[in-house]
Amino acid sequence: MSNTSIIIEERSRDIGNFLVGRLIPFRKKRMVGPFCFIDHMGPITLGPKKYIDVGQHPHIGLSTLTYLFKGEIVHSDSTGAHQRIYAGDVGWMTAGKGVVHTERSPEGLRGKKTDIHGFQIWVALPKELENMKPKFSFTSKSELPTWTKNGIEFTLIAGNGYGKKSPVPVHSSLYMVQLISDTKSSFSLDNEVKGEVGVCVVEGYIETGNEKIEQGNMLVSKVNEVCDIIIGEQSRILLFGGEPFNEERYIDWNFVSSDKEKIKEAKKNWVNKKFKMVSGDSSYIPLPSRKV
Ligand code: MN
Repeated sequence: MSNTSIIIEERSRDIGNFLVGRLIPFRKKRMVGPFCFIDHMGPITLGPKKYIDVGQHPHIGLSTLTYLFKGEIVHSDSTGAHQRIYAGDVGWMTAGKGVVHTERSPEGLRGKKTDIHGFQIWVALPKELENMKPKFSFTSKSELPTWTKNGIEFTLIAGNGYGKKSPVPVHSSLYMVQLISDTKSSFSLDNEVKGEVGVCVVEGYIETGNEKIEQGNMLVSKVNEVCDIIIGEQSRILLFGGEPFNEERYIDWNFVSSDKEKIKEAKKNWVNKKFKMVSGDSSYIPLPSRKV
């Protein structure tokens, strides 16, 4: 492997009952295309007393993409959206100038044991859309383009890739593709996707050059340097990336912006309870005191 490729090891942290692997940002690579943060949820068994219960918290300047391999989650936000997201569906919330949301295990599942496994991904907005009105969009599994090549099952989750377009209404040139394979096979990135490339090994392994990268790791490269990759047997990976922005993005707590002042203002507004909240919800996740 050339020394311009970076293997990013998944670092783990606890959020309440959950072990979350924070894949990016990383010291040596802050963003991949417009993707600025990836949270790996599980795989973990929930219930009967353990479940997801993330109360009201704000975002600005980004879109969140929720994609589950297993389990279900209920998303509610200050735009009035209230949506149950099943495995394979895409929840796409654009914060723009400001949104507040909650994520919870469905009431009906809280008494039972259920598995959850998935990702929540943050995608920075282009500078000219950072101030847009917040919006939520739901795309069901059946609407996503799927195809099979060399025994690999592809799903285009978001953006453009492999000559196809996902209906998820993204705001810049990007892609997120899931590949699942039962057997060891190879695939190409050459001319199939545009921009920077991230490969997240969710299950199994991949091989590139002489390197074997096991599940739980992410590989970041430039598109010209990784053309062909081998996906291992019984493996699931996510390809993601796209065209980077010209300006730097600042990330602080739940806020993303090209302008540090906007982040300061958002923090003040959250502390002073100036955000529009989720109707009928009284939860409130305070700004961490070290962030004030
Ligand atoms: Mn959130």
